[in-house]
Amino acid sequence: MGFQDFLGNPATVTRLRESIAVERFPHSLILAGPKGAGKYTLALMLARAVNCLHPTQSDGLPDFCGECRNCARIGDAANLEERVAEAVAAREDLRDVDKRETRILIQTHPDVLIVPPDPPQLMIKLGQVRQVIHVAYYRPPAESKRSFSIFTSSAFMKEAANSLLKVLEEPPEHTSLILLTENPQELLPTIRSRAVVHRLGALPSTELETLLAKRRPELSAKDRALAARLAEGAVGRALTLDLGVYMASRQDALVVLRTALREPDYSQLFHATESYRAGADGQEKTANLLRALSSLVEDLLLVVAGTPGLVRNVDMGAELERLAQGLTVDWIDGAARALVQVEQGMRRNLLRSLSLDAMAVSLGEQGQRL
Ligand SMILES: [Zn+2]
Repeated sequence: MGFQDFLGNPATVTRLRESIAVERFPHSLILAGPKGAGKYTLALMLARAVNCLHPTQSDGLPDFCGECRNCARIGDAANLEERVAEAVAAREDLRDVDKRETRILIQTHPDVLIVPPDPPQLMIKLGQVRQVIHVAYYRPPAESKRSFSIFTSSAFMKEAANSLLKVLEEPPEHTSLILLTENPQELLPTIRSRAVVHRLGALPSTELETLLAKRRPELSAKDRALAARLAEGAVGRALTLDLGVYMASRQDALVVLRTALREPDYSQLFHATESYRAGADGQEKTANLLRALSSLVEDLLLVVAGTPGLVRNVDMGAELERLAQGLTVDWIDGAARALVQVEQGMRRNLLRSLSLDAMAVSLGEQGQRL
């Protein structure tokens, strides 16, 4: 375990490790890059490298052991989605009055605070920044050299951004703030100007294919090409993507789509969603279905926009062309919005199958209006 596990963007990683070597790790750091470029993974690695109890070296630069008490606890935050889901579920169990007051924060190490966008608005809120301020100013790191606050999104409520700005103006000595963003322009210029910006690029799909040939030799060349496209530059996703699961979800997603597009009879749809209604794995299956639907809808947009060479589902070009016939950008936009609604509905714990059926109905209605 160490920086050798971080794939891609070696120049950026080296510069950041150099700043640890000379003990000048930035007080405020913006890691910018597309989804899946490894921003969060790198942020946790940096926090471990600074605070490792048995620090090591590789290529002449600071590295971390991955096993000491600090490394292990910071590493426990690695599965962000799962940690956030746990925190949201815990909040749901609170009394209503406490629920309103409670902000979602992840803390697997006393000196490392992770701040995800707070549902349902999915924005960083004032209450979260207040917590960061409390840790930064009034609680010196207890079990590490430097405390970290990692913001996993740059969607700030206005008061939250203003409050954060005050921290950046007078950064406490033993604290680093790391802001992760897909687009630094989303942040206030005054925030940007007070932070060091480092960029991570997505890995091109040809590079991912080469990596897959080495790390997942069991995949055929065709499957490697598909996995590389579906991963959208994200190394971790390319390496772990289960194509069998994806194909099954995509099959169901196609049924939902075809139904919505041209078949007024919903019986096929009900058949497809029946298996999602119950069972312990219902939520995961539904999430997979939604992901597959999103990738198909986005591919349809690429076909309609006249750039079919960019589609992700590279193995079904002809089928995408067929589906896209007669579709307008407006319709596809509507479908994308409907998908977002279903995802929000899921978060609000609506009956999963219900909101899926509702989506197909709403897709169908939009289709009829054209
Ligand atoms: Zn360690």
